[in-house]
Amino acid sequence: MEFGLKGKTALVAASSRGLGRAVADELAKEGANLVICARTVGPLEEAGQWIHDATGVEVVAVPADLSVPEDIDRLMKTAEEDFGKVDILVTNTGGPPPGPFESHSVEAWSTAVEQNLNSVLNLTRAVLPAMKKAGWGRIINITSVAVKQPIDGLILSNAVRAAVTGFAKTLANEVASSGITVNNVMPGFTRTERLDTLAENISETQGITVKEAFERWADQSPMGRIGEPHEFAALVAFLASERASYITGTSIPVDGGFIQALL
Ligand code: NAD
Repeated sequence: MEFGLKGKTALVAASSRGLGRAVADELAKEGANLVICARTVGPLEEAGQWIHDATGVEVVAVPADLSVPEDIDRLMKTAEEDFGKVDILVTNTGGPPPGPFESHSVEAWSTAVEQNLNSVLNLTRAVLPAMKKAGWGRIINITSVAVKQPIDGLILSNAVRAAVTGFAKTLANEVASSGITVNNVMPGFTRTERLDTLAENISETQGITVKEAFERWADQSPMGRIGEPHEFAALVAFLASERASYITGTSIPVDGGFIQALL
């Protein structure tokens, strides 16, 4: 299937590792030029060089903290200087810390909103004018299966990702006539450093081993295993493609059947 992504520019947020990195890899394989970002320069530049060497696409790596609006301005300015405009935006950032409601301060809630909601709004605000002018655009938000099936112990994530979903559905209606689609992809338990951190937390708080925490997640999927980042990235690449032109306002899981709901 021809995705029609050759020569398009994709901005993939938080893409030095994990799901964002897998999405960057997949879009580059389809011929899209990339703007990637993360906070730490070393791993980010390594990722950019690796992707360029493996695929030949142009990759611009911009160190940026997505919780800082000025960093997003700088990220966008670089993207525009180097590529003119962004055709595809994939929003993503690190997940909020685990813990029950009473363990999180007011500041922790503000940080989660800043990091996991406001970064989506700020990135979207930055790319929309050029997408509208071009009459074409793809906005894809990485959220979580927690939107459909909240996960115990992840109250910050459960709450803030629901806000992103409400935003995205409404925006999809507002920009549909401009040729822009807006969708969310909801990862289930997928093998990244985020899961290592969560498994360590579960091990400490629930007295099981890290291995047992992973086995517990695997058992929650009918497939009996957790997902791999490239399995997640394949759907994001499809939603970014020309072929996904009539899909908007949706939230689609990549979870091995984890969500126990009909729709
Ligand atoms: P990860 O921790 O493996 O990678 C996160 C990436 O974000 C890294 O590149 C990191 O450098 C970057 N990052 C973190 N904070 C940043 C910031 N403030 N500014 C810029 N870059 C920043 O995480 P992941 O597993 O790839 O998860 C990505 C998102 O998907 C997270 O929000 C996570 O909560 C969510 N999610 C993951 C899973 C899973 O099983 N992996 C499941 C559901 C939801």
